Amino acid sequence: MNHSQHAASPSVLIIGTGFGGLGMAIQLKNAGINSFVILEKASAVGGTWRDNTYPGAACDVQSHLYSFSFEPRHDWSRKFGLQPEILGYMQHCVDKYGLAGHIRFNREVAHSAFDETTNTWTVTTTDGEPHTANIVITATGQLNQPAWPNIQGMGSFTGKMFHSARWDHDYDLNGKKVAVIGTGASAIQFVPEIVPRVKSLGLFQRSAAWVLPKPDRPFYRWEQTLFRRIPAWDRLYRYLIYWKNESRALAFTRFNSLLEIFAWQARRFARSQVQNEEKLRHLIPDYRIGCKRILISNDWYQAVDQPHVDLVTTGIERIVEDGVVTNDGALHKVDAIIMGTGFAASEFLSPMAITGRNGVSLNQAWAGGSEAYKGITVSGFPNLFMLYGPNTNLAHNSIVYMLESQFQYVLSCIRTLQAEPGTAMDVKPDRLREFSATVQQKLQNSVWESGCHSWYLDENGRNTVNWPGFTFTYRKATRQVDTHDYEFLRPSRSS
Ligand code: NAP
Repeated sequence: MNHSQHAASPSVLIIGTGFGGLGMAIQLKNAGINSFVILEKASAVGGTWRDNTYPGAACDVQSHLYSFSFEPRHDWSRKFGLQPEILGYMQHCVDKYGLAGHIRFNREVAHSAFDETTNTWTVTTTDGEPHTANIVITATGQLNQPAWPNIQGMGSFTGKMFHSARWDHDYDLNGKKVAVIGTGASAIQFVPEIVPRVKSLGLFQRSAAWVLPKPDRPFYRWEQTLFRRIPAWDRLYRYLIYWKNESRALAFTRFNSLLEIFAWQARRFARSQVQNEEKLRHLIPDYRIGCKRILISNDWYQAVDQPHVDLVTTGIERIVEDGVVTNDGALHKVDAIIMGTGFAASEFLSPMAITGRNGVSLNQAWAGGSEAYKGITVSGFPNLFMLYGPNTNLAHNSIVYMLESQFQYVLSCIRTLQAEPGTAMDVKPDRLREFSATVQQKLQNSVWESGCHSWYLDENGRNTVNWPGFTFTYRKATRQVDTHDYEFLRPSRSS
């Protein structure tokens, strides 16, 4: 019997059933902690992999690494998994680890407040239902709030309009004149899928993306058999992918000039794919490669090169009832507008209202920008743990690896709390300040600060999204909680 089974388990509330929420729940179960509930705003699990069902949705991290290390799957159909397969894997995790009984669907969290007299959190869902717990773990991801552009006249459009993260599968795009706004990671995946079906496509590009070939292919049956029969090979394969990806961290965070080799490769790739000289000129970005997320695709350039695709690089002035008007006064008449405009990534935890000690809201605590100690805890918000919180996103490797580091850290905190039931732990403000200063100082050398506008930067131009280093360094830093980093609080009144 392990330590956790001796001590009383605190009640834990997890918010979200994406990779973060499900993985955390599995780790709690493995640690013998069953006193947890998961609140999920939707009626199914999967987070971003449930919401993003657009044609061609796929992961740009290899499946063997974009899955839990403790739950390997040997029969991935291809190197880079497609959305339905990834979602299927997540459902498999729910079934195998018996998580269904812990999940409360259709419970969107409206606000959470910490009660210092009892050291408990009360989490209230939008239907007014209160849920009380000792510990709250947010697993709401960074990419869950679709970002709609603020374009004049959007309400006047009489055709069909939807966001790529809320794809309308009932709308038939066949033979339609379509506008796509945005050319980021989502658009690059769905545009090649819809180009053969539409009559014409107006692709509204504000900035070009750096695009590299995707080293993807289906796995042969014998490869899947080998992965299954020799699990050590499966593990080694994952390990090799990890190190291949990890080797790029230095280029992003310190030696930016190393990225030039990718720029050279991307330019060469574009030239080999795009025949239309005018389009080619506009498809090569004018900012440093890596400043925005580098995209990978084997069919993007060919899709844009099609004669019925109009690459529009003049800015959008407004949307009118039958189309999009650009700054040169041209009206691009369309039947449908698809927003591939991304997510409000730096608005962590929004729109949830979270109130900590002394009635201070998280918005107030984060007035100068989001920050969290090791990306997980915030001073003044005891026993609140964030998964995939500020400055834990990556441009070079799998976020699932970062999440697993966070699971370990949170578990270590929970074990500490179990030793003194009723206590709450609050990260010391000076530790958070020091940590944030170091992160921001390291980010100064990163390519993300090289002058482009990206979703890594918040409205003040501060990078609150990315981790500025190696993922193994992060793992080492999160292996175990250092109790000196925390103030331990007794409830002012016993509950
Ligand atoms: P994104 O990368 O943020 O791209 C948004 C696009 O919309 C950009 O081209 C942006 O132009 C444009 N845009 C935004 N507002 C606009 C406006 N008002 N007018 C004109 N253009 C506008 O969003 P995303 O493609 O949805 O991807 C977001 C993130 O999701 C990715 O970086 C990635 O982390 C994740 N994702 C991952 C995968 C995967 O394979 N794993 C797939 C899809 C998404 P600017 O560049 O000029 O701002």
